[in-house]
Amino acid sequence: MVTTRFAPSPTGRLHVGNIRTALHNWLLAKQAGGRFLLRIDDTDRERSREEYVEAIRADLTWLGIGPDGEERQSARFDAYEDAFARLEKAGRVYPCYETAQELELRRKVLLGRGLPPIYDRAALDLTDDEKAAKEAQGIAPHWRFLLDRDAPIAWEDGIRGPQRFDPAQLSDPVVRRGDGSWLYMLPSAIDDIAMGITDVLRGEDHVSNTAAQVQMFEALGAQPPRFAHEALLVGTEGKLSKRLGSTGVADFRESGVEPEALVALLARLGTSDPVDPALSARELAEQFDLAKFGRAPARFDEAELHRLNAAIVHRLPYDRVAHLLPEGMGAAGWDAIRPNLAHIEEAEGWWRIVTGPVEPPACDAETREFLAAAAATFDARDWGENPWKDLTATLKGATGRKGKALFLPLRQALTGLDHGPDMSELLPLIGREEAVARLERAARA
Ligand code: GLU
Repeated sequence: MVTTRFAPSPTGRLHVGNIRTALHNWLLAKQAGGRFLLRIDDTDRERSREEYVEAIRADLTWLGIGPDGEERQSARFDAYEDAFARLEKAGRVYPCYETAQELELRRKVLLGRGLPPIYDRAALDLTDDEKAAKEAQGIAPHWRFLLDRDAPIAWEDGIRGPQRFDPAQLSDPVVRRGDGSWLYMLPSAIDDIAMGITDVLRGEDHVSNTAAQVQMFEALGAQPPRFAHEALLVGTEGKLSKRLGSTGVADFRESGVEPEALVALLARLGTSDPVDPALSARELAEQFDLAKFGRAPARFDEAELHRLNAAIVHRLPYDRVAHLLPEGMGAAGWDAIRPNLAHIEEAEGWWRIVTGPVEPPACDAETREFLAAAAATFDARDWGENPWKDLTATLKGATGRKGKALFLPLRQALTGLDHGPDMSELLPLIGREEAVARLERAARA
């Protein structure tokens, strides 16, 4: 069964880039009828916070991409110790005693000579006595994973195509710090194996991690999962601005962005498919295909998000929004007003033109006369199926007015505005008594 995971560290809120990664993993899993897991990467106990774990869950739920299961790295330290012991026994991890300053110096020397700053494996040459002496001095080793330099690393990337790395060009990655804490790479591979992850989809900033992790999977006796690395998200200026890079679900929510809009946009950003407000998350999943992702950075345009949001708000059914609407506004009110909304919260302002009071603009004597005639017509005639159509046709015949001269004064008198929702939908909501009162009032103004 296809199983994907989203693996955030709970050291902050999700931002738009993380949301996209989460969504794509959800889509990839659902497309195949598989499972999408949330893995909380909380090995860093200092920086991880429970409030962020809760916020991450809430954000995924709000987006409609809740996970099928949740795992936590902080509950799995025993598994990491076991795997680490196996790797140590097999000679695939080794202790190192260099300080950060020493390593930095060596890097600088190599770079100064125009050489790649690859770790020289000096620690492999230490004798047992030398190691014991270091430890006697109170230096706790950090640990590196020993890459197999004779085995070229290759994988077929779901987005980038065939990838090849020469392990001799990579430093043996540090997997564990001197204080015993874990760096991200090894626990992640251990978890991917234990949790049956079949597909790892993440940002291209992880490509070189993948190269090392491919060998970790093999060293742990497992087949690596399929990997796909997507181009990073950039803003309209070519890079993700600091503000946008920290814009999270809460900010989008506050600015009136609906989850459907974020999902519709982020699902297709970076692909050759057009963004389509008509598609549900399930439909987006059915059509999700890694082959459609390009290598060019995906451009996130907030203006596009807001346009899409409007298009989506126009389609939202009443049941989806009922709890967000002003008191008394029913399905007919929603249907009348939604084409005018960019954000659901604007419904309240529009609803006031139904409930009143409205302030009609002052008008000339001729218009006042017309409005008085309109009030009488509205009062006298039977309101059938479509009163607006019927009443305006009657007034047209009686007064000779047509087009703007007919419709605008009526709209202004009835709503106080020059523009707004379709009058044929609004008028039945305003109701006869109130409509007549508004016309009479405007005729006197
Ligand atoms: N916690 C890692 C990160 O946020 C997970 C990366 C991954 O393997 O997907 O970068």
